[in-house]
Amino acid sequence: MEIFASAQGEGPEVGRSTVFVRFGGCDLRCRWCDSPSSWRESATCRIETSPGVEQFSERPNPLPISQVADLAIALAPQKSTWISLTGGEPLLQPEAVSSLARILSDRSRRVYLETHGLHAEALASCVNWVELVSMDWKLTSDVRWGPGKTSNRNHEFHDAHEEFLRVAMRAGGVYVKVVVTPNTLDDEIDEMIGRIVSVSANIPLVLQPVTPTGGVERMPEPEQLLGWLTRAEKRLSNVRLIPQTHPIYGVL
Ligand code: SF4
Repeated sequence: MEIFASAQGEGPEVGRSTVFVRFGGCDLRCRWCDSPSSWRESATCRIETSPGVEQFSERPNPLPISQVADLAIALAPQKSTWISLTGGEPLLQPEAVSSLARILSDRSRRVYLETHGLHAEALASCVNWVELVSMDWKLTSDVRWGPGKTSNRNHEFHDAHEEFLRVAMRAGGVYVKVVVTPNTLDDEIDEMIGRIVSVSANIPLVLQPVTPTGGVERMPEPEQLLGWLTRAEKRLSNVRLIPQTHPIYGVL
């Protein structure tokens, strides 16, 4: 859908220069989603003409993967700059992600994969070329499958996330990010923590208070946030509470 340069707005790499390659299509519907235009594939791709200028050219989709790699690298002159494959949900197009990650990795570029963390088989096809997996952990209090998918049983996301996390351990690195809202339940946080611990208590966890948008009007209360932080720190070695930063300086 788009290729542009910005700064990472979330998670432990927050503030680092990053080129984003956004894939169209998502099979979830998160209540806070700030990019509903990415729920469907797009007929065109907009490409920033120079890093940070916010001027774009348009090309028809699908772009050849080698061209996507060239365009992303042109916006990231430093080899240390992350190239983030994001969405939508990039792993709905596993062959494209795998090819692109492989080309970027072969050209000594740092591949960062931002995913909703539910499609383990798709991740397995590209994990060897990913330096860092940013894996969401979706909670059923605020997230549903999109059209054409059956609704959740209570543990459906937990099972799929745990399986995904085990595959993600084969990447250069992985962290889990969970968006928490005023609806978030202590029980689902505890279940998530237990599932992460069953893989490794050293996996970093980021608690991200929701940025009020879409169907969510406010952040959780401070007592909720600090309570979840304390709960998680009792069982995991690396937990942080990090809000999104890009809305602060006006970038979506
Ligand atoms: S997974 Fe991401 S793109 Fe999909 S609905 Fe949720 S926030 Fe939006």
